[in-house]
Amino acid sequence: MIELPDIKKIKIAIDKIENNLTREKNVSLSILRLDKIHSEISGNKFFKLYYSLEKAIAEQKNIITFGGAYSNHLAATASACKMFGIKCIGIVRGEAPKNLSHTLLFCKEKGMQLEFISRENYKRKDNIDFKIEFAHNFAGPILIPEGGYSKEGTEGASLISNFYSTKGFTHICCAAGTVTTLAGLIKLSLPFQHVIGFSALKQPDDFDSRIKFLLGKSLDKNYFLITDYHFGGYAKKTDELLLFMNTFYESFAIPTDFVYTAKMMFGVFDLIKKNYFTSGSKILCIHTGGLQGNFSLPSGTLNF
Ligand SMILES: *Cc1c(COP(=O)(O)O)cnc(C)c1O
Repeated sequence: MIELPDIKKIKIAIDKIENNLTREKNVSLSILRLDKIHSEISGNKFFKLYYSLEKAIAEQKNIITFGGAYSNHLAATASACKMFGIKCIGIVRGEAPKNLSHTLLFCKEKGMQLEFISRENYKRKDNIDFKIEFAHNFAGPILIPEGGYSKEGTEGASLISNFYSTKGFTHICCAAGTVTTLAGLIKLSLPFQHVIGFSALKQPDDFDSRIKFLLGKSLDKNYFLITDYHFGGYAKKTDELLLFMNTFYESFAIPTDFVYTAKMMFGVFDLIKKNYFTSGSKILCIHTGGLQGNFSLPSGTLNF
């Protein structure tokens, strides 16, 4: 089996984003390119999986996890498990479709065993009896909740701060789904830093109680969840968003995904326009990857 890479030895670029708006408002804007760490296990998913992979390797266990047909988390898990020689099972929400999505085909190709379960059973996935039933069928595996929503996931995501902690950023911005990544960033944030999540969901579950669960305690509020940039809801998009993605790529040669990172970047620019960030702010956006999700768009939609 291959060993996990030492996080401290991984180099990740921080790109500068500068245009008339950032100059006019006197803010510095940068982006941490986690999308570039690996072509398949991209972005935040690798970090959220880190400690579960480590455990699976050390204890020679299988991994079971959950997701929908377009889940970046399933794709990243499948790829990572293949790379590190771990057997994995993906429990997919809904009956097996005639044609598998691009994401599920990818998972299968990587050797992930796909099990489709009804939406009703899927809702029970966090229920104890259900877990025992599964554990019984699949001999003591490591269960990773949907989207890596767990304390281990948070601990892993907190490793991301290694890449920027000494650089004096005043604001850390990140797209948010389960908010696990955000919790990790909050965990190791410095007293003067604001950590801002951009919700990819229209109606996120109670944010504060999620953060409290993930961190095991409540913290002083230097973190916020912005919910104005979901563009109709999870995995929904508008022409305005797609146009933004193409323009952003043309200007800065940085690809974004329409489910998470494009919505965050759109939101950040909009908030700069609205003077949300005071003059002199040093803003860091986390590019959490997820580019495989763009394969579900009709070809030709994007210019990258
Ligand atoms: C999964 C994902 C997120 C959301 O991360 P959470 O930890 O669930 O909040 C953000 N960006 C991208 C690209 C993702 O794939």
